Amino acid sequence: MKTAVLLAALLALNSLPAAAGAFENSLSSDNLFSAEIPAPPEPVIDETPGAAWARYTAALNFYSEIAFRADPDTEAYREAYLAASYLRARLEPLGGAGAAKSARIDLDFLGPDRATLAEISDFFGWGSVMKDEQLSPPVTIKAGFATIKYVKGNTPFLVQSDSFLDKGEVILTFDDGPDTHGLTASVLETNEGAAPSIFFVLGSKLGPAGRAVIKNESEKGHEVSLHGYWHATETGKPFTRYSTEQVLADLGKTADLIKGATGNDPAFFRPPYGVIAPQALNAAINRFGVTPMGWTIDTLDWSTKDPDELFEKTTSLIRQRGKGIVLMHDIHPQSVRVNVRLIKWLKDNGYKVVNPDRASRAFRGN
Ligand SMILES: [Zn+2]
Repeated sequence: MKTAVLLAALLALNSLPAAAGAFENSLSSDNLFSAEIPAPPEPVIDETPGAAWARYTAALNFYSEIAFRADPDTEAYREAYLAASYLRARLEPLGGAGAAKSARIDLDFLGPDRATLAEISDFFGWGSVMKDEQLSPPVTIKAGFATIKYVKGNTPFLVQSDSFLDKGEVILTFDDGPDTHGLTASVLETNEGAAPSIFFVLGSKLGPAGRAVIKNESEKGHEVSLHGYWHATETGKPFTRYSTEQVLADLGKTADLIKGATGNDPAFFRPPYGVIAPQALNAAINRFGVTPMGWTIDTLDWSTKDPDELFEKTTSLIRQRGKGIVLMHDIHPQSVRVNVRLIKWLKDNGYKVVNPDRASRAFRGN
């Protein structure tokens, strides 16, 4: 059973005994794995922003720890990554406002509680998956390059291979921009001439100021590519909530904005959350001529605001894998600060930032 993988990963984290216990209890909850259409999560009555903040933060810490420790090509990683993506989105509107009120809660010893697990399950439609059920086998998009694997049997997730890279080679990617308040500009300044990168941008951020930033990206030799118009539906749900035609319409709008600003068609596409149905992905590949791209090194750069911690984590992940497609976000100050040190570290340690067209050639098989 899929959850056993995650549970095993959790139990390996001896430092989180209370969290593992909480998770185990939640597994016995029938409503999580019922064959019926799941009931919406019970609203948490009279929950203060501080309490919600504590609940989401505890769960987020728990899942980001798993995502950091697990290999990206494992079910444990994918499940933890998706859960964490949901929690980050819930935390955003709460800001840090709740932090003071919940200061007495020791977050390190809490995992996701029942209400939070039910929310995550509902968001991704995991509640309708039977225990041990294999709803969908993996779908090969391009052998040796990209595969769709189903998280918990029903959430299609783009799994990327980096076998086309030699040891010591990395591709740098930045998602969710452009930032128009200087963060993306700083990355461009650092990476100019040294580290050609892919910027997976959102069409909703391509007003006049955003278009000026991506024009600059393109002029400095970077790839400006498709992430989505929103991230991914207007209410932040994955593309699986859209029909293929809706996905294509959103990507088309974004591709037009990119072409208008840079003069170039986007060359790559990375679906938000890595989640997309194979038929929608193949339709996007055919319609826009893009190379699909996931990642093989997740820096989890949203999980800490401490640049020193992030730098240590990032370099340790790169060293462990020895090569890969690195996922960062040019919308977080800590990521931008770490990028400066990372470019130098890569150079000093014999790594080479390769041109992203290596991936296109691998995808097209030449
Ligand atoms: Zn994103």
